[in-house]
This record gives sequence, structure tokens and C-alpha cells, in this order.
Amino acid sequence: MSELFDAVITGSGPNGISTAIYLQKKGLKTVIFEQASTPGGSVRTEELTLAGFKHDIGSAIHPMAYASPFLRKLPLEDHGLKWIFPEIPYTQVLSDGGAVACYRDIKATADQLGEDAASYIHLFESLTKSWPKIEKDLLGPLTWPDDPVEFLKFGLRAFPSARFFANHNFKKEKTKLFFYGAAAHSTLPLTNIASASFGLVLSIMAHKYGWPFPEGGASGLTNALISYYKSLGGEIRLNEKISDLKQLPESDSYLFDLTPRQILSIKNIELSSTYKKRLQKYNYGAGVFKIDWALEEPIPWLNDKCRRSGTVHIGYSTEEIEKSESDIHANRLNNIPYVLLAQNSVFDTTRAPVGKQTAWAYCHVPNGNIADQTAAIEDQIEKAAPGFRKIILARNTYTTRQLEHFNPNIIGGDINGGKQDITQLFTRPVAKLDPYATSNPKIFICSSSTPPGGGVHGMCGYHAARSAFKFLDKSKRI
Ligand SMILES: Cc1cc2nc3c(=O)[nH]c(=O)nc-3n(C[C@H](O)[C@H](O)[C@H](O)COP(=O)(O)OP(=O)(O)OC[C@H]3O[C@@H](n4cnc5c(N)ncnc54)[C@H](O)[C@@H]3O)c2cc1C
Repeated sequence: MSELFDAVITGSGPNGISTAIYLQKKGLKTVIFEQASTPGGSVRTEELTLAGFKHDIGSAIHPMAYASPFLRKLPLEDHGLKWIFPEIPYTQVLSDGGAVACYRDIKATADQLGEDAASYIHLFESLTKSWPKIEKDLLGPLTWPDDPVEFLKFGLRAFPSARFFANHNFKKEKTKLFFYGAAAHSTLPLTNIASASFGLVLSIMAHKYGWPFPEGGASGLTNALISYYKSLGGEIRLNEKISDLKQLPESDSYLFDLTPRQILSIKNIELSSTYKKRLQKYNYGAGVFKIDWALEEPIPWLNDKCRRSGTVHIGYSTEEIEKSESDIHANRLNNIPYVLLAQNSVFDTTRAPVGKQTAWAYCHVPNGNIADQTAAIEDQIEKAAPGFRKIILARNTYTTRQLEHFNPNIIGGDINGGKQDITQLFTRPVAKLDPYATSNPKIFICSSSTPPGGGVHGMCGYHAARSAFKFLDKSKRI
């Protein structure tokens, strides 16, 4: 290959494409190499069950993409992206057939919480108000914050475990359970330090922006990103699995939308032995077992709030969710799992044939565990929606191994590119002032294995691109 590029990106997940867009916008010549036949990484939609039913293979609900300080400034709507906002961002089911909804409106949400209402309003009114002052610092590497006071106030609330946070702030089991449902997105035991942070950020997102998703499926976001990137002159080459740096064209910099284990396996990448040893210590988190259903009709929820929500969190007591998540981390499969369910087709008629529906759900499993959790997940749904199984037309399941086959970044089923505990939250993949740079000045990491970690927001890619741009600028290559 004789072409010369300023930056070559391997991997076309949302972070890889964001990296490429940032650099291409700066006037650099970039190209993306992707092993799959379609771009998007874990942000792709396909007919997995029956003709006409469109399922998100990976991510389904995109509050972080909508709220992303980088993505929200791109003209993606001009490239076909249309956001859909479910009436209720998310709902937590209760064991008595009741439910607690997270409405956009904080007071309406608090009205369901009895004696915890005042505490909920106090917490989330101030957090939601201060979000714009802290989002940039939270969604990136550790630096001195722009607003240290607001950052510290958030940090003090986010640093404890979800269990401590819930017990300290709320009295009623249903309020604690409601918070656990959001915090369990962390894929961490709810007794772990900083597991509260995930519940807080996701609740803030729900109140401030809603939990929207692209019309037609997650691919709607990928297609808009790729269309915009190409309009800037960017290039993408599909079906190109990179295992040796020599496969790539000559370039002044190389950015990898891959996790440490994959980067270590690439030949001729020339990383120092010390840096390699540090990457080898990188930890992966729990895996997921995932199901997509084609349904005859909407899910027969006992509670109407569930029907009106884009996402439903299923787990019937704090004790149950706590056990489900701690078992996984002790390498034990749990047959009464915490389940995350999305029902995009209720709000997006393009997702299924007229009158029919789709649903998407997963539960956490130990990393690499290939057990089939279909029965466990469907049992949990049946309790909140009796008759659910009767409306199933078809289902498609993914074990951790199948997910990794679909996207090699999903190591052992870990959807976040590595464990997101306190030791790796801001210091991924290694503790370093610039975690995107490696020991080789031309090589950068831009995947969710860098801060701020998992989720569709493109912020890892944005920060990695800035780091590479500084290097290229300094070395007068541009
Ligand atoms: C089942 C599931 C559900 C999820 N749900 C949500 C959700 O609802 N909301 C949310 O915000 N996030 C969700 N996520 C997480 C989110 O999708 C990821 O955090 C995000 O996609 C990470 O982006 P990335 O660009 O870092 O990597 P990825 O999206 O993983 O992209 C990496 C890319 O690199 C390519 N690649 C790998 N190896 C090579 C190679 N050797 N050569 C060339 N290309 C290569 C892959 O094919 C892939 O395209 C979910 C993920 C999964 C899997």
C-alpha cells in the first residue's frame, strides 16, 4: 500500500468513528479498517429473528449518545438520524405488580416515593442542574476539574457503593430498589465503591434528556456517523481484520478501537515491555447473556407504567438484585437474574411488521460463561408480565462466546471493554496522565477501554483523537 495517511483507525465502533471524524474535521487524511462487513461495532441492527423484525445486536438505548458533548455537536440529523423519546425513560418493576417510573419530571417521579419524595427531589434537582458544569470532567480522563466545587459535590455522592447511597438517602425499599435498577447497569456488585455513580449518571440522563434511541434501530446512529464522516472525505475499508501493523498503510499515527488483549496480539506494534506488562494486568468485567424476541403483540405488563417505558428494569427486591450481581462476580451463575429489557418497537413502528413488536433483554453472567439463561430471563419477565411466553413468535439468543464472535471487543461477554470498578474507571487501560497514548508515540487507544469507558458516547474516541492530534501537531507532521 503506497498511500500515506495522517491517521489510520482500526475498528469502527462509535469510538473509532468519533476518532476518525474529529481528525478528519481537523483537515487530516484518515481511514478506518474494520473486520466486519458492516460498520458500527456493538451499535448495529439486523433482522435476527423473522423478516421485518429489526433487532439491535448490541446497544439499544442511547441516553449517553444523545447527551454526549462530542456527538451532540455533530450534524447527525442532516445525515438521517432521528431520535425517538419513549414516553417514560425507564421503569422499575415491584414484587406486588406495582412499578416506579423514572419520568423526565423529577417531581412526578418523586410523587411515587412517599416519604422519600423530598430526598429524591433534593438530590436530583441539584445534580441535574449541576450536570453541565461537570459532564466534561466526568466523561474523560482525570484532570483538574473546571468546577472543582460541583465536581467534589458529585464525587462525594458518587463515590460510595449503590447500597450505601440507597440506605443513606432513602428509607423505603421501593425507592432503594428503583435506584438499584439504574445502578446495576454498572455490571458491578452493588456493594462496590463507586457503583452508585452509574445509578446517578443514568438517572440524571433520564431527567435531563430522556433515554432516547435512533429511529429504525441503533444502526441509525452508526449510519449517520459514517455518512457524516464520508461527507468530510473520510474512508472506511470493511472486511479487514488487522492482526499485524504491516497490514495497515503507512501513517503518522495509528489509533486502535480495540481492548488491551486484542492490541497485545497485534504483531509489529512495538510497545515497550513495561507497557505491555501493564496492559496484561487489565481486567475484564462480567459478561452478558442476551435475547431478542419477535412478539405477536405488546408485552402484557401488569403495570401500565411498564408499557409506557422504553426500558424496564426487572428485579423484585434489593436483596435479589444485590445477590444476582455479587454472584456473577464470585463466578456463580444466578438463576434469578437482574434483567434489563428494552421495547423500542412500542415507540418506533419501523421496527416490526404492523401490529407486531420486538423486545431486547440481557442479564449479567460470569465472564466467559456460556450457559443459556433464556429460561431464567423469561421467568423474571413472566412475573411482571404473565403470558409473555405465549406472545413469543421467535427468539434469538447470544451467549458470551457468540457475542465475542459477533464483535471481538466483547471479551468473554464484557460489553464495556473492561471492568469499570474504581481501579479502572478513570485509569483505563493503565494509570497515566494521558491514558490514550501508549509507549509507542505513534500508537493510541481510542476504545471503551479508555476513559470514560463503556456506553455509546464517542467520548473515548474524542479524547484519543485530541491526544493524537497534539502529537501530530508537536511533531510537525501536519
Ligand atoms: C449486548 C450489548 C448491549 C449494550 N447496550 C448498550 C446500551 O443500551 N446503551 C449504551 O450506551 N451502550 C450499550 N452497550 C455498550 C456499547 O455498545 C459499547 O460500549 C460501545 O459500542 C463501545 O464502542 P467502541 O467503539 O469502544 O467499541 P465497539 O463498539 O466494540 O467497536 C469495536 C470495533 O472494532 C472492530 N474490530 C475488533 N477487532 C478488530 C480487528 N482485529 N481488526 C479490525 N477491526 C476490529 C469490531 O468489529 C468493532 O466494529 C451495549 C453493548 C452490548 C454488546
